[in-house]
Amino acid sequence: MYDLIIVGGGICGFSAAMYAGRLGLKTLVLEGGVLGGTITTTNIVENWPGIKKISGEDLAMQVIDHAKEYGIEVRNEWVREVRAGGKKGCFTVLGEEGTYESRTIIFATGAKHRKHPAKGAERLENKGVHYCALCDGPLYTGREVAVIGGGDSAAKEALLLTEYASRVHLIVRGKALRGEPVNNRRVLENKKIALHTEREVMEMKGEKKLESLIMKGPDGRLEELPVAAAFIAIGITPLSEVAEKMGVKVNKKKEIIIDRTSSTNIPGVFACGDVTDTRFKQAITGAGEAVTAAYWAYAHVNDEGYVCPHGEEKP
Ligand code: NDP
Repeated sequence: MYDLIIVGGGICGFSAAMYAGRLGLKTLVLEGGVLGGTITTTNIVENWPGIKKISGEDLAMQVIDHAKEYGIEVRNEWVREVRAGGKKGCFTVLGEEGTYESRTIIFATGAKHRKHPAKGAERLENKGVHYCALCDGPLYTGREVAVIGGGDSAAKEALLLTEYASRVHLIVRGKALRGEPVNNRRVLENKKIALHTEREVMEMKGEKKLESLIMKGPDGRLEELPVAAAFIAIGITPLSEVAEKMGVKVNKKKEIIIDRTSSTNIPGVFACGDVTDTRFKQAITGAGEAVTAAYWAYAHVNDEGYVCPHGEEKP
């Protein structure tokens, strides 16, 4: 019997694990994919307090190492289902390889990239259409490429690609780029980046690999832009299926609804990071939610009467 099982081994999962370990909770982290999660695909992180610049991969590895100092267990295993009402009102976690019991659960399952709906996008995926500039950008050294999206991820992907590509076309559907102001400025000042606003990509063309993009302008006119690659950065979809299936409440965007104690609607079940309904999804805000979740899991395990699912403390 574990005190805490953390589903998801990204930076939030391991931030929760680090605190849980220090609090003496018998803790298991289950991660089926890449240890470290999404942040490992970020080139440079410049907004983790106390560290001016670090690669996403190095930051993740440091947090994982830190958590492992406190005797937590980690298994490389996908979670298929979590059931409430196990032994003594605890939770049963069904993994691909084993079944585990726990007193509390933290969902730190993160999010996946939203797929582009244009014609040809799916067919040409990994044949010029990509979702990670750090992973696939070097393939296009000296070529013209595009980034599609209007948020901070798109701005950062475009800036990273200038290290490889001869020219980067940043295609924004809205009237302006809406990244962090510091990144917007870097984009506008970078001579390798051509910003195309009010352009919607309707089609990705190419026989065996991507050759061009068909964009619709504000007047409805179509234009063709020849590029060797298109990197999509149009937002994220939360990975909340397992939580939702066990009865955890999600909002319209399928984000897990949490309160100030990182609690969900089910007592003993918490969530943190990109899978939740918090508006500002930064690594550090997710880590903060994770630490909050670990503390309240500790309170739940040690003094169940003290905690209620909506964060109202009993007098
Ligand atoms: P956002 O949701 O912020 O932005 C998505 C963008 O994609 C919007 O501009 C949207 O345009 C556009 N878009 C959506 N669908 C389409 C489409 N079909 N065609 C063209 N454009 C489209 O996503 P991000 O991935 O940029 O950021 C996600 C979260 O991650 C944010 O909360 C962000 O703050 C965070 N983040 C954190 C980082 C960190 O911790 N350092 C780094 C990067 C991101 P429209 O407005 O027209 O809908």
